[in-house]
Amino acid sequence: MDVATDFQALRAELAEIADLGAASALLHWDQETYMPSGSITGRAQALATLAGVIHQRSTASDLRDRVERLRDASRFDALDDDSKAIVRLAHRDIDRSSRIAPELVRALAETTSHGQQAWAKARQDDCFADFAPWLEKLLSLKREVAQSLGYIDHPLDALLEDYEPGATVADLSTLFRALESELKPLVAAVASSGVKPDISPLRRTVPIEAQRAFALEVAGSLGFDFEHGRLDVSSHPFTQKIHDGDVRLTWHFDGDDLRPGLFAVVHEAGHGLYEQNLPKQHARTPLCEAASLGIHESQSRLWENCVARSRSFWQHFLPRLEKHAGSALAGVGLDAMYAAANVVEPSFIRIEADELTYNLHIILRFFLECDLFSGKLAVRDLPTAWNDRMFDLLGIRPPTDRQGVLQDIHWSMGGFGYFPTYTLGNLYAAQWMDAAERAIGPLDEQFARGDLRPLSEWLRSNVHAPGRRYTARELMERVTGKAPDARYFLDYAKRKYGALYRLT
Ligand code: ZN
Repeated sequence: MDVATDFQALRAELAEIADLGAASALLHWDQETYMPSGSITGRAQALATLAGVIHQRSTASDLRDRVERLRDASRFDALDDDSKAIVRLAHRDIDRSSRIAPELVRALAETTSHGQQAWAKARQDDCFADFAPWLEKLLSLKREVAQSLGYIDHPLDALLEDYEPGATVADLSTLFRALESELKPLVAAVASSGVKPDISPLRRTVPIEAQRAFALEVAGSLGFDFEHGRLDVSSHPFTQKIHDGDVRLTWHFDGDDLRPGLFAVVHEAGHGLYEQNLPKQHARTPLCEAASLGIHESQSRLWENCVARSRSFWQHFLPRLEKHAGSALAGVGLDAMYAAANVVEPSFIRIEADELTYNLHIILRFFLECDLFSGKLAVRDLPTAWNDRMFDLLGIRPPTDRQGVLQDIHWSMGGFGYFPTYTLGNLYAAQWMDAAERAIGPLDEQFARGDLRPLSEWLRSNVHAPGRRYTARELMERVTGKAPDARYFLDYAKRKYGALYRLT
């Protein structure tokens, strides 16, 4: 078979696997939005069957042979750059899935499913001891996965590849230590500044329809395309790509609090915009996918924090919100709204944390994960280690494990190595903003006019269009000229919060 025919056949196989993924994505989206609760067993079966078929198809020997043939030097050289990238990514994915023995895949699926149940119950009962045996089991299975995949320095390196290809414990440790050493004193300075912003401008009673109309207006202004997407309600907001022309956002609202509705929609619209702008000419191939979870998160956090929590954003959008909300917003001024959107306060729960303290929650989790994997920390000592670290980082000690080590679902799903991507998202976002401003001029002036499109367009052509062609680090270096660096976020944070909290 000649190279072109072989490559077309590969594309066709990858497209069918992507289509099976689309069916699974739609079932999953429906489960979280409209599915009647009594349907859960049948839905779980359907999803498990699809997952099995997808795994079978993606590791089939025909597909592997075809990819190996195309990787053969003389044939590979005959391909154009895009096709080379597709072959390279397909090989990477197939290679990783086939390194893990089917028995291990099954053991993991079973243990995570029980582990999640055990975690939910342990959290409810505030009893870490009930979850500990499952965590031990998951750690040991994930160590086996790391062994199967291979690593040079640290077992967690092998698992980080699933979320942030190319990231290593060594690099992240350096990056996060630099962040911690400046963030801790900044948070302490904010706490002792004597400035106590009033949250009440965001805690007005605004009808859901008004909140929804405003959220849709903002999402549309940043470029989210509702011809190829929609907004529905779920208990936890998320973004689900069904296929390359259909990206769904969800939100959840509170009639007496604008924060969950507004900021969550902007966050999810940032994720959604990235998905909508991936290179469609490569639809149904691994090239039309996100570069990494850190890059994905950088898109949601950039719009949520750097844009929707900026003063210039509210210059334009506060009058727009007033228009939707009517008298509910009476008497709220621009500065009061800006201050309310940026209240900093150490708290126990990660998902409720502000832009500054959020990263300390992640740093806590990352270094604990490293120690668990290297064997330096035993599972039974984890709650104490968590609480001590929390006190060291944020000056508060969780009164219960429910508000401490048991709060997140990630470890019960075996998601070790996932947490760092949240903080990477924050760091990348600040670095994108710096590069965008150098390229397209003062962003605050554009935001104050309600003009979010130049930034959106810059992100599309620089960050979204390459799809999965580069690793996060490569993409960052190509677009900003620098490797990922905590400096951009720290400069941004000191500027913004220094002014808000009148720090000297
Ligand atoms: Zn997100």
